[in-house]
Amino acid sequence: MGAMNVPWADSLRGGRTLLLDGGTGTELRRRGAALDDTTWTGLVPLANYDLLRTVHADYIAAGADVITTSTFGTARFVLEAAGHGADFAAINQRAVAAAREARDAAGRAVAIAGSISCLPPRYDLHAYPDETVESAAYRELADTLATGGVDLLIVEMLQETHHAPLALAAARTTGLPVWLGVSCRLGAGETLIGFDFPLVPLETCLDALLPLAPDAVAVMHSPVPAIAPALTALRRRFRGPLGAYPEIGDGTGAGSVTSAELSAEAAGWLEAGAQIVGGCCGTTPEHIRSLRSAIGAHEARRGYAAAPSESRG
Ligand SMILES: [Zn+2]
Repeated sequence: MGAMNVPWADSLRGGRTLLLDGGTGTELRRRGAALDDTTWTGLVPLANYDLLRTVHADYIAAGADVITTSTFGTARFVLEAAGHGADFAAINQRAVAAAREARDAAGRAVAIAGSISCLPPRYDLHAYPDETVESAAYRELADTLATGGVDLLIVEMLQETHHAPLALAAARTTGLPVWLGVSCRLGAGETLIGFDFPLVPLETCLDALLPLAPDAVAVMHSPVPAIAPALTALRRRFRGPLGAYPEIGDGTGAGSVTSAELSAEAAGWLEAGAQIVGGCCGTTPEHIRSLRSAIGAHEARRGYAAAPSESRG
């Protein structure tokens, strides 16, 4: 484990709960930014830097202890597929800078998590480069985020056993703390399966990833009903800090989840031992503000005076 010299690490060890931000891509889109089919938010740091910084700042204002960089789709082979390979350094440096600017203006301790995923260009499984190039690209992204000054790496939306371990292993080479984000849904018979990979049970995915020794494991970009059973499955296999940050669709459809509904669900996840809670796609600063209250109530029941961000504010 890398040097954990930021307050969130002590908070987790002390049994406290950390609040993550909410969806960045869907929030950018809700505010008018154009995302693209190849990189998701990959080009936003070039085209909409000020809006990106504002979204980060709004999540901090809502109470987030950890914000996540918009680097989900910025590995070199993904940017190359969008015709922006030459912008790799600029895009990733600006993505980290936007988060740092928002954090530095906040006046309290907020950690920056550098996001890495293994999703291929256009979500096309045939669009991966060969494995050597793919692994090198994850290491290059991890190194660029680390050099830019992120406090930890969060490897997101892992749900299969071929590409996910390459991304997680690359993150581990930086020496930074690494959080693992697995993405699943409920399948037939209430089994847990990969969000986009119905033939891969969550347990199979965990068997491939937990030997790489992540510092925390979160169930993320997963529907709300999958979160509680996934936390149970994670706890059977992992003794470190657990987290939960679900997706709630695009926030406008019939399946969307209100901030009150999300925080009511989250109360159960907190009771089940989740120490890192936030939102993924579809969640907004309003959802994060509501989760702040749920965490405050949970910690008050456990005898803590105030949530970390409040006591540090
Ligand atoms: Zn998501």
